[in-house]
Amino acid sequence: MHTPMIDAPRMLTELTHLAQIGAGADGAIHRVAGSRADLAARDWLSKTMKVAGLTGHRDEIGNVYGRLPDAEGPYVLLGSHADTVPAAGHLDGAYGVIAAIEVLRTLVEAGHPAARHVEIVAFWDEEGVAPESRGGLTGSTALCNSPHIEDISAYLELHVEQGPRMEAGGLDLSPVTGIVGVERYEVTMRGQENHAGASPFHLRADAGRAATRAAAALMPLCQDIDPVGIIGNIGACTFSPGAANVVPGEATLQLEVRATTEDLLQQLRTRIRRDFAALAEEEGCTCEIRRISAKPVAAFDPEIVETVEKVCRAASDRVAPMASYAGHDASVMSTRVPTGMLFVPSTSGISHNVLEHTPDHQLVMGAQALLEAAVSVVQAGSALPALTVAA
Ligand SMILES: [Zn+2]
Repeated sequence: MHTPMIDAPRMLTELTHLAQIGAGADGAIHRVAGSRADLAARDWLSKTMKVAGLTGHRDEIGNVYGRLPDAEGPYVLLGSHADTVPAAGHLDGAYGVIAAIEVLRTLVEAGHPAARHVEIVAFWDEEGVAPESRGGLTGSTALCNSPHIEDISAYLELHVEQGPRMEAGGLDLSPVTGIVGVERYEVTMRGQENHAGASPFHLRADAGRAATRAAAALMPLCQDIDPVGIIGNIGACTFSPGAANVVPGEATLQLEVRATTEDLLQQLRTRIRRDFAALAEEEGCTCEIRRISAKPVAAFDPEIVETVEKVCRAASDRVAPMASYAGHDASVMSTRVPTGMLFVPSTSGISHNVLEHTPDHQLVMGAQALLEAAVSVVQAGSALPALTVAA
């Protein structure tokens, strides 16, 4: 049986409809998890699933699921999150959810045998901005800790890239190989607080100078290890006591690094400790580095990555695999089930912003690729040998 085509106008219309729920006057969307708009969006998603002939159910945490009434596990789960950051764009999360509905709906309408083995989900609280949230990824974490995870054979998530790499590379689609590991550190330089006028440069132990030299050293240090697989940031810096006429006795940096492999993270840790300590010593200071948090690298299932790459390359010759430098529900899911992701470009690399945009033809191409990947993964599932014949 041939693979059916999604209804592109229908999907784009529903994306627009969801974007109206929680939209402010400027079009920016406010659907923080648990807000009235978020709950309204979940009601609308349940209704939309019902109209599509699916039975919807909501679990204790707030995830909304849909599947055929006579569906049969294990399921290939498709989806993303329905919550947003404050003043969000209309694609982050929503695109993956709407595309998942469209994919299953298309398979159902075509009478495709894969339809009975697909489930869709709108995850609860991916973003983690509500005060009561513990850092987001709440819905996918709850699923992974629930008995329902035993019914899931694989997870596929379609998402906007949220960065400029694909557009800069002229790409339509990117199979995602995994999600970077993220580590946060607090770096404290300690020197000698002193009178700024009376202390000659060469006789200071200037913690501020040590910290700013370390901040400037981060980029070349990362690029020296791996220009592609590592990214870093110093997002905050404080000097103490904090006055123009006092040489800082103490300076603190908030540092975050992301890398595509655990090996790169390890090299980063070693280099940061060594290079920052050497800089501190040159300034007559000491350096203390404290790890605040660490999220491991999420490596996606190689077979699923290959499947996703195959369907992407069939759809366009502007395809290249990449790692995700932002976190997603897929990172949590990958700890329990074979997982893959698929990106479409973000115009000007903008996300978490009302200006978030992806050209319609790429949104459609991404959803169709999701359908084809879902069918391939269902067919490849060892629990479903009959389907290989049906295809
Ligand atoms: Zn997202």
